[in-house]
Amino acid sequence: MSLHLYNTLTRRLEEFRPLDPKGKRVGIYVCGPTVYDIPHIGHARSAYVFDVLRRYLVFKGYQVKFVRNVTDVDDKIIDKARQEFGERGTVNGERDLKATCREISERYLKSYHEAMDRLGIARPDVEPKATEHVVPDMTDFISKLLMSGTAYEAGGDVYFAVRKSEGYGRLSNRSLDELQAGARVEPGEHKQDPLDFALWKAAKPEEPSWPSPWGAGRPGWHIECSVMSTKELGDTFDIHGGGVDLVFPHHENEIAQARGAGKPFARTWIHNGLLTVNGEKMSKSLGNFITVEQALKDWPHPDYVKLFFLKTHYRSPIDFSHERMGEAKRNWEEFSRFVQHYYQRCTDAEGVGPASGESATGRQAFEAAMDDDLNTPKALAALFELVNAGHRMLEAADASAHGAARSVFDTLMACGAVLGLFQHGLTEEEPTTRERIDALIAKRDAARKAKNFKQADDIRESLQQEGVLLADTAGGTLWRRTR
Ligand SMILES: [Zn+2]
Repeated sequence: MSLHLYNTLTRRLEEFRPLDPKGKRVGIYVCGPTVYDIPHIGHARSAYVFDVLRRYLVFKGYQVKFVRNVTDVDDKIIDKARQEFGERGTVNGERDLKATCREISERYLKSYHEAMDRLGIARPDVEPKATEHVVPDMTDFISKLLMSGTAYEAGGDVYFAVRKSEGYGRLSNRSLDELQAGARVEPGEHKQDPLDFALWKAAKPEEPSWPSPWGAGRPGWHIECSVMSTKELGDTFDIHGGGVDLVFPHHENEIAQARGAGKPFARTWIHNGLLTVNGEKMSKSLGNFITVEQALKDWPHPDYVKLFFLKTHYRSPIDFSHERMGEAKRNWEEFSRFVQHYYQRCTDAEGVGPASGESATGRQAFEAAMDDDLNTPKALAALFELVNAGHRMLEAADASAHGAARSVFDTLMACGAVLGLFQHGLTEEEPTTRERIDALIAKRDAARKAKNFKQADDIRESLQQEGVLLADTAGGTLWRRTR
């Protein structure tokens, strides 16, 4: 079977075929964070869903270019700068909001990176920042829209004329009449039609602004993604992703802008479901706002959080609760028990065993589930089947059964790596200990890549002395404690 993905644009499950004529390269653009606050577990879910997609595409042999933007100019960032800095942001007696906004966005981008790193979610290949593409990328793009007649200037603002865009509403499956009913013109806007949206907003006093042919101002939110995605991946590219809350208006507007500039744009649209906490939408006022940091404090192994996510299909909503996190932890313990059992019984674990029927069947079941629109609950079930088969083989006392157990173990680790699992130790540790060991392993990986084998061996040796054993597998370096 080949990979099938649900495309929001066609509302169908479709066979994934890359644009690249050689069928090798795949371009993905995912809407990233607006950096004005510390990341919560809803951010982690979205980042993880697309990390798994990326890993699976790599596992299938594709060369993936993964682009995720950072929105670093936005009303929320400006509000935060006003709140937090006040007089502190004063430069030469005048408040420099542009500098304070930069400070805010840099601080929260750093906290986003730290949180995702701790979860073991890989960083994108390219991470364009909106503020670095305003002039000339966004201003040129807006000029093109003005020339094509799909945009108009009004009072220093530039708006996109939605009624001039063919197929508007197709992604979110809404008619213009429906959209009209919910559309408003806010005070200070100069729209000709309530459906229209801003591409460029005229500068307000104190706010960050850039020069443009229409006077100083700043871009609307939607334009950055049409501009940066096509700049990095071309006028048409394979996959565009984000949370389901972005389908309308953000992604609908991204498509309209790109088409208005004569670009066919993304072919497959993938959206992850949202996250609630104990059945309610996460919000600071409800006091149920769970940061990644807090989740990792309460559930101190990144795999607990990942297994919690994997147990629900990525398109479905997911509810964070103590009970579900407890289940995820127990699932992880099942894997951990098997690994302990394996090393107890197979002391000759470095030897290569014959491939077993069970491991081949397990791998096929795993792939079939992942090919079916990344059905991770089913893929996990395949891994637990492998664990059960592995235990049975280890209980049998003969050498050939142990060889088969080794192949089950290898398959489990390789498939786990596709899901980003098992990279942070296979035994329970204090989080600070675990992070220290993870950091040493990362250092050893870097040393090996640089062919500095002496340093790599020294790190392995020092870890061994404190009872931490490393194993280099197809799925990456695994570690566990032996005493
Ligand atoms: Zn976006």
